[in-house]
Amino acid sequence: IYILNNKLRWGPPQTRLSCSSSPDLEKPPHSMLRHLTSKIKSTGPISVAEYMREVLTNPVTGYYVRNNMLGPDGDFITSPEISQIFGELLGVWIISEWMGAGRPKQLQLVELGPGKGSLASDILRVFSQLQSVLGEASVSLHLVEVSPTLSQLQAQNLTGNTSQEADSEDEPVYRRGKTTAGLPVCWYRRLDDVPTGFSVFVAHEFFDALPIHKFQRTEKGWREVMVDIDPEKPDHLRFVVTPSPTLASSTLVQADERRDHVEVCAEGGVIIQQLVRRITEDGGAALIADYGHDGTKTDTFRAFKGHQLHDVLASPGTADLTADVDFSYLRRMAGGGVACMGPVTQRTFLKNMGIDTRLQVLLRNCTDPNTRKQLISSYDMLTNRAKMGERFLFFSVLHQSRLAKPKKQDGLSLEKKKIPAQLPVAGFTELSFS
Ligand code: SAH
Repeated sequence: IYILNNKLRWGPPQTRLSCSSSPDLEKPPHSMLRHLTSKIKSTGPISVAEYMREVLTNPVTGYYVRNNMLGPDGDFITSPEISQIFGELLGVWIISEWMGAGRPKQLQLVELGPGKGSLASDILRVFSQLQSVLGEASVSLHLVEVSPTLSQLQAQNLTGNTSQEADSEDEPVYRRGKTTAGLPVCWYRRLDDVPTGFSVFVAHEFFDALPIHKFQRTEKGWREVMVDIDPEKPDHLRFVVTPSPTLASSTLVQADERRDHVEVCAEGGVIIQQLVRRITEDGGAALIADYGHDGTKTDTFRAFKGHQLHDVLASPGTADLTADVDFSYLRRMAGGGVACMGPVTQRTFLKNMGIDTRLQVLLRNCTDPNTRKQLISSYDMLTNRAKMGERFLFFSVLHQSRLAKPKKQDGLSLEKKKIPAQLPVAGFTELSFS
């Protein structure tokens, strides 16, 4: 098992990309390098954000678009893939927020970047187990995914291959189906295409894949870090610092910034603002979990290939690119119109959600020694401070009314009026089961 600074990786070091066994697929990475070098030759160095966007999500040769990178045979493994308990506790969180909002008639579960669909599937299992709580609420699943390869895998896992692709590429819903339990599920390329209505949004390891700009403090002020062709090795890329400010360097760095190097994920800021608008207008909540920091880190841009760190500029398109999520930036972008909770560590969140009790229940019902061992080791992986417990953080955006204190009315004391107290926000506060 490999744990490299931040993301958990496992598997043998030489694990091959799961798609590269096909000789036809050996070509695209080279065409990605060619595509980038010809772009740089014609218009000059590109920003790190543009580099990241092209490498990850270019519709033809992008890393996410072509690959199934998740799992022991791929490039990385994530919490929902490690243990079913992870998704189950998130399912409980979603139901708790739906109850906190007064049990609206409609509940849209919207997941950004659903990977293999395991998280959504674990959440939906909890929904069906708690059917008596959800009652008559009409539940639907909405997946925002750019990768056709991964959307197929999600459809397989969630609908058992009964989903249908849209006839035309321009349709906002590019695939639709029904889950095995009969819930409608739709796929979109962008959050903007998801219908409005009371929604709980979940984004696990999604924001870290969004493009970042990189800035360097110099004697002349802030300058942007760009990607250029190495003049000594024409098939290689290198970082350069712009001689003068760019639009991004003059608009995205905070005036009171104290670090010498900063990464800003402007696209993440835009998505947070879209979530804020939806939550304010239609009600709901967003739960964002990722590795990250609260505005303290500097250079976190990394690449992973076969569970190993990889040079970010080498063989673009063959490795996953990622940067730590700056939660202080997301909170600033969310603004004052919503309530933000966290970030708290994954360990704190899962413990507050009752992971210890859930583990005990599963162990009590399990006699197979191997499964018991696996349950315990995956629990340890998720919560251990030295493993995923502290590197991963949970952050939430809630409707303002969710945290509003009940007002005293007519001079009567709260006790006399019996105004119900707000349901505490699960995960972010310690719940007592008295
Ligand atoms: N949430 C999953 C997968 C994480 S990998 C898990 O934790 O296991 C990142 C996911 O986001 C992939 O599904 C990828 O295809 C998707 N993705 C990356 N960039 C995206 C973008 N700009 N828009 C929509 N989905 C994106």
